[in-house]
Amino acid sequence: MEVSAVEGLMQDYELSLQHVLWRIERLHQKKEVVTKWDDGVHRTTYGEMVPRINRLAGALKRIGVKPGDRVATLAWNNDRHLELYYAVPCMGAVLHTLNLRLFPQHLEFIINDAEDKVLFVDQSILPLLKPLLGKIPSIKTMVLMAEGPAPALDGFPEMEDYETLLAAESDDYPWPKISERMAAAMCYTSGTTGNPKGVVYSHRSQFIHTMGVLQGDNLGVTENDAILPVVPMFHANSWGLPYAIGMAGAKVVFAGRFSADPKSIVELSEQEDVTFLAGVPTVWIGLANYLKESGKRLPKVSTVVCGGSAVPQALMETMDSLGLRILHAWGMTETSPLGSVARVYGGHTPEEALRLRLTQGRVAPGVEIRITDPATGEELPWDGVAFGEIQVRGPWIARGYHNGYDPDKLTEDGWFRTGDVARIDADGYIQIVDRTKDVIKSGGEWISSVELENAVMAHPKIMEAAVIGLPHPKWDERPVVYAVVRPEFKGQVTEEEVREFLKGKVAKWWLPDEVRFIDEVPKTSVGKFDKKVLRAGATPIKEGVTQEARK
Ligand code: AMP
Repeated sequence: MEVSAVEGLMQDYELSLQHVLWRIERLHQKKEVVTKWDDGVHRTTYGEMVPRINRLAGALKRIGVKPGDRVATLAWNNDRHLELYYAVPCMGAVLHTLNLRLFPQHLEFIINDAEDKVLFVDQSILPLLKPLLGKIPSIKTMVLMAEGPAPALDGFPEMEDYETLLAAESDDYPWPKISERMAAAMCYTSGTTGNPKGVVYSHRSQFIHTMGVLQGDNLGVTENDAILPVVPMFHANSWGLPYAIGMAGAKVVFAGRFSADPKSIVELSEQEDVTFLAGVPTVWIGLANYLKESGKRLPKVSTVVCGGSAVPQALMETMDSLGLRILHAWGMTETSPLGSVARVYGGHTPEEALRLRLTQGRVAPGVEIRITDPATGEELPWDGVAFGEIQVRGPWIARGYHNGYDPDKLTEDGWFRTGDVARIDADGYIQIVDRTKDVIKSGGEWISSVELENAVMAHPKIMEAAVIGLPHPKWDERPVVYAVVRPEFKGQVTEEEVREFLKGKVAKWWLPDEVRFIDEVPKTSVGKFDKKVLRAGATPIKEGVTQEARK
């Protein structure tokens, strides 16, 4: 049917991050920005930051940064990094946050692929640069994110120091007119398969995503919050928090390079009245252990956002018992990253509510989701049984990668293929079964490595467990568990005990062929289980084990 072509009469207001900067300047002057640096906790306010953001933009212009140029950061969560989050996109350039936990060859690939022009680097990270000597020719200027003379690094462009750069500029910067389609920021995927790929966020996508993060049904960030993003500022845009805090006017607390240390997180949370934490499950496993050992509690924290990997039931229950409420969220670098959030409303029994909080939740308002059969591409029903690949579309979902890699990630009808396999129930709750590449194919049937991991991690003596499928002559693949025993039970858990524990909790043919005890599950640069490393080092499955377990 022909649609009438009468135009709406509303303003064509460009959705840009300059609006967030405007709010900070006009409304949130007094709100605090706190950072733990090596020499103690530094305190500033948005009001004090605004002239510095202007100066930073002036400095970027002076050193030759033009609209569209990529400005890279290699930095922890801190106040200077936040200034870059605003100055770079608002002056028309593209903020490229580099993951400082990557191997040098990955960093080299990423910097060259993005053709970064300027590199801002924290002092403590300088040693990481050594292996990149002579290999990142696009970088014309390096800036040390510190005060005082920067050390000369042989073979690199001369380094300026951040504070001297800012000192030479004015408190006012004539911000240019930004079009909402312009690139604002860039983040590479973690590259668990093949090379990392650059996701390029636009001002428009960041603006709308920020509004999404603020919604009560999503992360629900408000002006009353004091937010400690444990999630690094280089991981998927720090889950949108650097702009959400500015838009809402929330206080922000950065743990700097102490983000992985539960004691620092607890101390900062206590001192700064933190209400909101965000990070991956491994961080909360460490925090829960520390709280149990120290007897400390964080009664002011009302939300602990947990995403990046599935939340194990044992972790959710432990955190509940410590008074910390996990809000489970799913997303990916390509989805800015907010995709879905597991909020549960009234009318459920406690058991049902727990089950729903453990799902990946319901898709965020603004994003559409479907699951499709990997073989036929057909859409599957939301019946809580059928599972297939999650595909999403919406204003903050990627439509492609920098330099055109992997064009097949977008379906012909414009949906983004996530590579995650899930069921969706009739109410829209998503249950991720696995990544397409991690799902174990045994005798023609699928075993969910994630569900098996969760079942093993429910064992009271086991702290962490990762499951991979290893080749098997008869069944194609069989599951093998890599488990880390809690320190107090070291040497006291047997393979048989774990298998006995699993009986009745998972299908018989899901029972692992082997349980291998290790000291630590290898982690990726953003703290997820690194199954690629486990697979690479895995010895073949022993002959003749657990015959009864097989289908
Ligand atoms: P990244 O782009 O590094 O954030 O990785 C995104 C991937 O992490 C997703 O495609 C999922 O496989 C996984 N992931 C993120 N959040 C969750 C979650 N809540 N549950 C299960 N997997 C998750």
